[in-house]
Amino acid sequence: MPPICITGCAGFIGSQLSERLLGEGKAVLGVDSFDDYYAPEIKRNNLRDCLATKRFHLAEGDIRDGRFLEAIFRKHRPRIVVHLAARAGVRPSMEKPLLYEQVNVGGTVQILEVSRQTGVEKFIFGSSSSVYGSSPDVPFSEERTKPEPISPYGATKLAGEAMCDTYHRLYGLSVTNLRFFTVYGPRQRPEMAIHKFARLLTEGKAIPRFGDGTTARDYTFIDDIVDGIVASLALPAGCETFNLGNSQPISLTGLINLVAVQLGLPVKTESHPEQPGDARKTHADISKSQKMLGYIPKVKLEDGIGRFVDWFRQQPGT
Ligand code: NAD
Repeated sequence: MPPICITGCAGFIGSQLSERLLGEGKAVLGVDSFDDYYAPEIKRNNLRDCLATKRFHLAEGDIRDGRFLEAIFRKHRPRIVVHLAARAGVRPSMEKPLLYEQVNVGGTVQILEVSRQTGVEKFIFGSSSSVYGSSPDVPFSEERTKPEPISPYGATKLAGEAMCDTYHRLYGLSVTNLRFFTVYGPRQRPEMAIHKFARLLTEGKAIPRFGDGTTARDYTFIDDIVDGIVASLALPAGCETFNLGNSQPISLTGLINLVAVQLGLPVKTESHPEQPGDARKTHADISKSQKMLGYIPKVKLEDGIGRFVDWFRQQPGT
């Protein structure tokens, strides 16, 4: 059985997806460079259970390295690629736009090239709600809403989608672009809202609140995102783009209160001006995903934050 290749396998979403597929009896070829966006030890730890499985093979290297990719693809012959490796994060992309372009666009083109040269049939691309930017057309619809990124990160994801779509038209590669809406849950990246808020409150520090607290995000629990990715593996050949969100946005103030309640700690915030690059509101229209993927998010924000807090409390130093 050829393995499913998962790039970014050591990250938050990649490691959870790898575990799910291994649990279903599939073989996984994991690719990751353990980059320094956050502590590589966290990523090694994410892979502990995967590495205990014989059906998991880890290829450590950089997606920008075409020779490395070609060697592992020729050896392991994956037929499906789930491409999640990326430089994530909206705000840091403004400081290092070129790096984001090299990893998220250049790296994606490298994987697409090697994929078409080695007979990959299906390519699933981890895109983002950031492609929509601050579009006032909420909820965001894949069909109706014009993507208007307001950060280099969002622009690299839109460019990645355009490259995937082009490889479909040019070479017949089956493509699914999945636009994830802020994902949270166990193993969430340490700099993301919820994880960062939990850490600051536990340390007795104030949460920096950017803007007046009315900005809103559609937070999606990791298990629902993994369900959506797994459903996309079974799609017939073609080229489609889907939103994977919870479709229940919450304000920043509401979110901070929810995290504090789940931790049983008082809320402490300090006010800062709104940040450039941050969308005012994200809200996924998930009717297309429901119809074509059977995607129905199951985890309510209160329950998901509770499950995150349970995990967070087990981490060393918390
Ligand atoms: P993550 O940072 O935890 O995982 C990304 C992984 O990619 C990391 O393990 C990293 O080491 C690896 N990587 C980075 N650059 C690499 C390179 N050049 N070569 C090989 N590996 C490299 O991030 P995540 O939150 O798990 O996100 C996974 C994907 O989903 C990313 O593409 C991200 O843009 C996208 N996404 C995430 C969210 C979210 O809320 N977490 C939302 C929208 C989109």
